Amino acid sequence: MTKFAEPIWGALPDHKGQVEKVRQAFIDKYGEEPDGVWSAPGRLNLLGEYIDFLGGSCMPMPLPYRTYVAGKIRSDGVLRASSLQMPGDERTVVIGEIKPGSLKGWFTYVAGVAWSMNQEGGKDIALPLNFGADLVIDSRVPVGGGLSSSAALECSTALALLDLSCPLREGCSTTEPLPSNRGPENDELRARLAQVCIRAENEVAGAHTGGLDQTTSLRSRPGKALVIDFRDFSLQPVEADLKSAGLAFLVINTNTPHELSGDAFAVRRQASELCTQALELDFLRNALPEDLTCEGMNERQAKLWRLNLVDESTTLALDAVERQHGTPSFPRGWIRHVFHDMCLVERATYLLKNSQELGAGAWTELGHLFTESFVSMRDELQVSREEIDVAVSTCIENGALGARIVGGGFGGAVMALVNRNELKSTAQAVANTYAKKGYSDPEFLPMVAGFAADKDL
Ligand code: ADP
Ligand code: MG
Repeated sequence: MTKFAEPIWGALPDHKGQVEKVRQAFIDKYGEEPDGVWSAPGRLNLLGEYIDFLGGSCMPMPLPYRTYVAGKIRSDGVLRASSLQMPGDERTVVIGEIKPGSLKGWFTYVAGVAWSMNQEGGKDIALPLNFGADLVIDSRVPVGGGLSSSAALECSTALALLDLSCPLREGCSTTEPLPSNRGPENDELRARLAQVCIRAENEVAGAHTGGLDQTTSLRSRPGKALVIDFRDFSLQPVEADLKSAGLAFLVINTNTPHELSGDAFAVRRQASELCTQALELDFLRNALPEDLTCEGMNERQAKLWRLNLVDESTTLALDAVERQHGTPSFPRGWIRHVFHDMCLVERATYLLKNSQELGAGAWTELGHLFTESFVSMRDELQVSREEIDVAVSTCIENGALGARIVGGGFGGAVMALVNRNELKSTAQAVANTYAKKGYSDPEFLPMVAGFAADKDL
């Protein structure tokens, strides 16, 4: 019998309630109203792992789960922050004294953004002299769950600091709700803010991730998936109309947190970047043909074409590495994975864009692509773990069209594409299996596409 009493299914987050909660937490802490509240979403990456930094395309969707920041301006250059997720750990720093390596722990994600705004931001983003802020943070994104709580924290902080510093900037308007020049429609500014947040995560937090998470959190279109081409960070919003197809995403936080700032991510990244160098390319993505959609091919033909291409391209890349550096010290599978995922995303984009014409077969194939990507992450890239494998296989045994790990791996979240009327029975099956095996209780996260970072109050 399951350990779970009904309902195992939570409700979607109450956005207004969350805004009010963080506002109240700020008042409780500082005895004053904050100047504003900002928030940014985590993301569900539908496909494309470990390829953003190689110029591959990825397919994320903003989550309805967000990180909220209430803030108030100070004029002494001090940044003070506390998080409801890190009770009793209030942090303070002089913004001008922040440096890579000078801080530790969760605060690096917040202070790193202030540092990076000054390094990377340009005149309209760099923080004015003597600007400081008090921040209180609260999040509904599972922390360390592969759903990008780190980018949600960076991006909500970036927008908060940009807006809070407005009174110290010449010609800056603070009209409500969000000054239009910083709203989601200003994609040019959002793209630069995303670069600021990426640099904060890479250089101050020390996590060598690409730009997928921050781009999604700042530049998503409401209710849509995105396909981002990381050669130039250009993006196309794509409709994933699961509801009309009678489908839904089941998102499972397996409660096996990962640790991305460790070596495991960095060594895989370095291996593929060595291939880029050896092939003398700007991006490893350019080792593959420009068009990977396999338009007009059926599922079987597309798969054969893809596997063949992945084999040939991996051999070319590893031969080039061998010529320059001797026998590669990393597994061939790491490189197979990145070429493979690059192909999967572009085929999936084609399927989603043409789902009306292609009919139910498009969704079935999409599900298979999710599972194919998972198998590649488990067997080639080797970033899965037992609890993840069990969640994926339980979903598939219970009728899911496909399932995969989300994020960098080693734990975290799993998503499955399931028939809408089987959402709860699939979740229950995972809960039962987890209980039987004595794993931590999983958490099931109702999923609809969310919206980009914004000012809420
Ligand atoms: P993910 O982004 O997949 O959730 P990461 O390891 O990239 O996992 O980022 C998790 C880290 O981000 C946490 O360990 C913590 O340092 C920081 N973090 C995220 N959300 C919060 C929060 N609400 N409060 C404080 N720190 C947070
Ligand atoms: Mg992260």
